[in-house]
Amino acid sequence: MPTKGLLERLADGGTLVVAEGYLYEFERRGYLKAGAFVPEVVLEHPEQLRLLSEEFVHAGSDTVVAYTYYGHREKLRAIGREDDLERLQRTALQIAREVADKTGTLMAGDICNTTVFDKDDPKTHKEVMAMFKEQVEWASEYNVDYIIGETFNDLGEALLALEAIKKYGKGVPAVITFAPSGAYHTFDGYLYGDACRKLEEAGAAVVGVNCNRGPKSMLPIVREIVKSCKGPVACIPNPYRTTHEHPTMHSLIDPDTGKMAFPEDLPAWLCSRTQISEFAREAKEIGVRYIGLCCGNASYYTRILAEVYGRTPPASKYSPDMSQHFVYGDEKFAKKYFSDGLKAKLATNE
Ligand SMILES: [Zn+2]
Repeated sequence: MPTKGLLERLADGGTLVVAEGYLYEFERRGYLKAGAFVPEVVLEHPEQLRLLSEEFVHAGSDTVVAYTYYGHREKLRAIGREDDLERLQRTALQIAREVADKTGTLMAGDICNTTVFDKDDPKTHKEVMAMFKEQVEWASEYNVDYIIGETFNDLGEALLALEAIKKYGKGVPAVITFAPSGAYHTFDGYLYGDACRKLEEAGAAVVGVNCNRGPKSMLPIVREIVKSCKGPVACIPNPYRTTHEHPTMHSLIDPDTGKMAFPEDLPAWLCSRTQISEFAREAKEIGVRYIGLCCGNASYYTRILAEVYGRTPPASKYSPDMSQHFVYGDEKFAKKYFSDGLKAKLATNE
């Protein structure tokens, strides 16, 4: 077990780098179906989950997040696999536990929006609470360091997640984040700064936002949250080039076809590494203490966040160094044969 838990690591201005984005990465690799987005990979290719979890740690993630995202009762019911619920949850938790133990990282349980919450229908609130309860109880059997509640649209559902973690999580801290919509408030009408402050006051250790928005349209919201809250703030956008006009990944249009890019054509909008580096610098400056990337993340992006946040993860051994390139490198490595004229031939069609 790591010697320091979440709260100790975040004390005195400490920071945490956390890789998320398992869902899109497995879809991209051919182990998960876009649409239902259920983490069947956990059951069918657990070895792939172990490898990706290790890869994220290699790239600098301080936490192994148990891949139970969208592995809840409602999602499994949707694909006719409700009977596999507990096995899926326990397999994901066990793998995360083993990778965290092996690498000395933290381990987090993970609950998320249930897709059944309706703010005006109290019956759904009971159903939501029952789903959270079973998941939190399973997670707490695996000695989680903390539990994440993520991608909530409503403060109401986020508060239920926090309540479940406090009630059934054996006292571990909670990290609660909203998936911000295109508007600047939750579906139940709270500005994100206010919603996060309410969560903090209700006992969340870390609050903030993840998913839906890319760095550029996420950061203005994060500034407000940092101003509103006293404790550590999480910022975990998707690595897409969202803008003020197209604030979420759902609003991006493929430049060639004119059709909605979500989800299959989102790669057309992936951020460059330079943009991710700039994002991390800005987030650090604003005071974001819990940094990561969500859907669309890949380990080379996580390495950038880790390096900007002052880490040297094992993957840094292979961080780019163009000084060694045979054309564009410095004097020691670039071959004399590649004159300016030949360099121009590489870059133009003349
Ligand atoms: Zn996401």
